Amino acid sequence: MKYFILFGPPGAGKGTQATAMVEKYNLRHISTGALLRKEIAAGSELGLKAKALIDAGELVPDEIVEGMIESEFRTVKDVAGFLLDGFPRNTTQAEHLDAILAKTDDNVTSVVSIMIPDGTIKERIRHRAAIEGRADDASEETINNRIATYHDKTEPLVDYYKKSGKYNEVDGLGTIEEVRDKIFSLMDRF
Ligand code: ADP
Repeated sequence: MKYFILFGPPGAGKGTQATAMVEKYNLRHISTGALLRKEIAAGSELGLKAKALIDAGELVPDEIVEGMIESEFRTVKDVAGFLLDGFPRNTTQAEHLDAILAKTDDNVTSVVSIMIPDGTIKERIRHRAAIEGRADDASEETINNRIATYHDKTEPLVDYYKKSGKYNEVDGLGTIEEVRDKIFSLMDRF
């Protein structure tokens, strides 16, 4: 099994690119954000707990997303690998992921990072808000806090994965097709 991590700030285009990546490489797309939104829509207890944090631009507790990831790994078998989108989002989650994979003698195959500047993050999220209507895209305050959470908690993972030689970055500023082709030529190596 291959384990790809799709990394990047909110609004970098991870969800858009993930669709093309899973199709070309026969991967299962696991978006923790999408899984959490499903729980919220279903009105589950977990969803209720997650909603307040997501709407504030904070991360939900590590155990919640770690449990989601592990159960996907356990239940999905008929694919060449997994594409993790939105996970890990801090160093604790990254260490937990390494520990989960070590149980089956696996490890992270590669990190594909899509990078865009802070100014573009806001533009992209505003555009997406008009199309998708996500609650956490609607408020300027939430968006600012998500960007702050990203720099504070998630960005340190760049160094974490550089140290293990797993980190690969593509410029997220081109057209969807240009970014996609750069990602494909990178993933072809694995
Ligand atoms: P975006 O890529 O726009 O940041 P996501 O759909 O990945 O959006 O995530 C939406 C929200 O869900 C995050 O702001 C966060 O509150 C929560 N979330 C998603 N993944 C995680 C995670 N791995 N750990 C903690 N919280 C998460």
